[in-house]
Amino acid sequence: MKYISTRGQTAPMSFSDVLLMGLAPDGGLMLPENYPQIDRATLDEWRHLSYAELAFAIMSLFATDIEQVDLKALIDKTYTKATFNSDDITPVTRLYDDVALLELSNGPTLAFKDMAMQFLGNAFEYVLKQKNERLTIIGATSGDTGSAAEYALRGKDNIEVFMMSPHGKMSAFQRAQMYSLDDKNIHNIAIDGMFDDCQDIVKALQEDADFKAKYSLGTVNSINWGRILAQVVYYFKGYFGATDSNDETVSFCVPSGNFGNVCAAHIAKQMGLPIDRLIVATNENDVLNEFFNTGKYAPRKASETYVTSSPSMDISKASNFERFVYLLLDKDTDKVRALFGDVKAGKGFDVKDKLGDIQGRFGFVAGKSTHADRLNTIKKVHAETGRLIDPHTADGVKVALDVKKAGEKIVVAETALPIKFEETMTESLGKVDLPRPAHTVGLEDKPQFVTVLDNDAALVAAEIQKFVTAK
Ligand SMILES: *Cc1c(COP(=O)(O)O)cnc(C)c1O
Repeated sequence: MKYISTRGQTAPMSFSDVLLMGLAPDGGLMLPENYPQIDRATLDEWRHLSYAELAFAIMSLFATDIEQVDLKALIDKTYTKATFNSDDITPVTRLYDDVALLELSNGPTLAFKDMAMQFLGNAFEYVLKQKNERLTIIGATSGDTGSAAEYALRGKDNIEVFMMSPHGKMSAFQRAQMYSLDDKNIHNIAIDGMFDDCQDIVKALQEDADFKAKYSLGTVNSINWGRILAQVVYYFKGYFGATDSNDETVSFCVPSGNFGNVCAAHIAKQMGLPIDRLIVATNENDVLNEFFNTGKYAPRKASETYVTSSPSMDISKASNFERFVYLLLDKDTDKVRALFGDVKAGKGFDVKDKLGDIQGRFGFVAGKSTHADRLNTIKKVHAETGRLIDPHTADGVKVALDVKKAGEKIVVAETALPIKFEETMTESLGKVDLPRPAHTVGLEDKPQFVTVLDNDAALVAAEIQKFVTAK
């Protein structure tokens, strides 16, 4: 399988090349030339596979240039009960009649990002060894990506990690999770700014071709294809977990920010998984909600992004969105390049003539949840079901209940565990005992390691130069 760029000006590449990449050289995102089509017989076989078996069945269709026994070993090493706390890896649990949760947050950092990142950590180490190369990972995080990346890459051979986070914008638990790591290859950098500023620094460094080559820059941000692919797996698993037969359809509701998680659901649907609707839930940062309801994409500046109580969704420029737009525009790479040129110029774009396709052929729906909705939903779900859900998952449940059609089965992605967001949980429920997995007991009391820098890409570049020798 060959990979191409959404902007059409990058020579086709193999999976293991794309795995180590961030943005394509032409500024676009890499994706396969075609999504493989899964027929009914295959789907029937897959229904009975374990998580690791299913992951291998799906990923081997995409990772065609990795030795299949090696791929299998990487997957078997990644998706274990020891790491994800259950044999199912991603159990589906009932919330209401026809509304279930797909549990994606039982990994080391208690958010869904572990699902992909744990695989990526193992895959990176493997590919680097094969190629006899080193890699400098730079990343931007509003909390969950960074910790998931660091826990996946800590202590890995030939990998150095520089993770930028917005100074003072994460929860105490999230800060402790990241900054308490003392592995020599992990470098935490707190930027005086917002998440989007951190992301802009990553983009600026990536776009400096000379610096990028000299220091072997790579990324694990959600634009990385390997992450999206690993996430496709749990939509298949979640579908099988929520249904009794492949005659049924389900809708997925996904709390969204960078459009990575729901992009994986969209790809699963494109591959033929019987998904009815893809429900995109946003918080007050509702750029995607506006797009899926009107066709108008108007990303906002960092200064116009609200700090909310579902902070991992405080994103106003959805970096994975281009993969969907590419398909929406029938793979017209010139048009994609033009539209995202307009985005870069701060203008955004409007494809309202495509609204029929967006909502019909692609099945997208969107809704928005506010701070008050979040608090109410956490309280309502706890009172009615006894279950504690985190603020991001609450945004998903709120929107799912808002848009649900009679008879529609909706599976909401549980994107984090409540213990990560104790302040908001307490605001909603009053003093409450939040379950804390054993490996996180006493986390906030550990010493923390972080360097605070002004919002300036050059300062980050200098920090990298301190620790990485140029090629
Ligand atoms: C990252 C994250 C999201 C948003 O996911 P995207 O892939 O960026 O859309 C939602 N909830 C939580 C808890 C997250 O960590």
